[in-house]
Amino acid sequence: MRISFPSNSNNEAFGRAVVAAFAAQLDPTIDELSDIKTAVSEAVTNCIVHAYRDTIGMIYITAKYDDHGTLQIKIRDKGCGIADVEQAMQPLFTTAGEERAGLGFAVMESFMDKLRVTSKLGSGTTVTMQK
Ligand code: ATP
Ligand code: MG
Repeated sequence: MRISFPSNSNNEAFGRAVVAAFAAQLDPTIDELSDIKTAVSEAVTNCIVHAYRDTIGMIYITAKYDDHGTLQIKIRDKGCGIADVEQAMQPLFTTAGEERAGLGFAVMESFMDKLRVTSKLGSGTTVTMQK
């Protein structure tokens, strides 16, 4: 499935709900579904607050699953990009000062089985997660 929507803050709940509805087809446990929703929520929030900090841009989500029931979710933006992905993924690293905990990537990493982040300054970021 493929959706795109603008980065208005109220769309965080929308993105999370769509992926949850898609994932529900795989008969996940309540805990698995909750993990997926939390991870998607963190990734979409990052697009809203970091990628498109002072503007509104499009957020693109694709999701698919294979015969073994592995779900892959891709969340992409065309925002500011990340200068140093390895550093950004360190727990407690944030560029948002006191406002944020710097735990989004750590949450995605622990709630999903796989996490890959690719980014290019000025052109955007793609977060790929598997469960
Ligand atoms: P928290 O998620 O706990 O509210 P946070 O968003 O700062 O805080 P992470 O989600 O771990 O923490 O992200 C770490 C840093 O990576 C962010 O502070 C930001 O600088 C950068 N970042 C994350 N996602 C994006 C993105 N989509 N576009 C640009 N920068 C990003
Ligand atoms: Mg975050």
